[in-house]
Amino acid sequence: MLPKGVCDSIHMDFDSLREAGSGLGTAGVIVMDKDTDLIYAICRLSQFYMHESCGQCTPCREGSGWLWRVMKRMVAGNATVDEIDMLWDVTKEIEGHTICALGDAAAWPIQGLIRHFRPEMEKRIMEYRKRAA
Ligand code: SF4
Repeated sequence: MLPKGVCDSIHMDFDSLREAGSGLGTAGVIVMDKDTDLIYAICRLSQFYMHESCGQCTPCREGSGWLWRVMKRMVAGNATVDEIDMLWDVTKEIEGHTICALGDAAAWPIQGLIRHFRPEMEKRIMEYRKRAA
């Protein structure tokens, strides 16, 4: 996940995208405008990867479902700020520790969300707490 400021100037090649903390993958691009609920969009991707996990390796089998469950709470804001760090840590436990690239693919969108849009996640949590109070 990359913000507009990065996309404006970055080259769409393997090295440039890797340096920016992203990746070319299969060269598919999703453009999201300002009306997009970014947390929900990434949560939906998490659901996809959980569904697609074949279950062969533990970090992906257990981790992808865990990521999706926490992301669902992040969409609502029903989480703590500390859990954003926990979410990051779990993606790092999955990344590079699986047989195929699906594990990395499940981790990277969440890492991109946290790297570039953490304030949005924190705002969602604060708003939920205000409503609950
Ligand atoms: S990383 Fe690949 S091989 Fe491992 S459980 Fe996920 S889909 Fe299966």
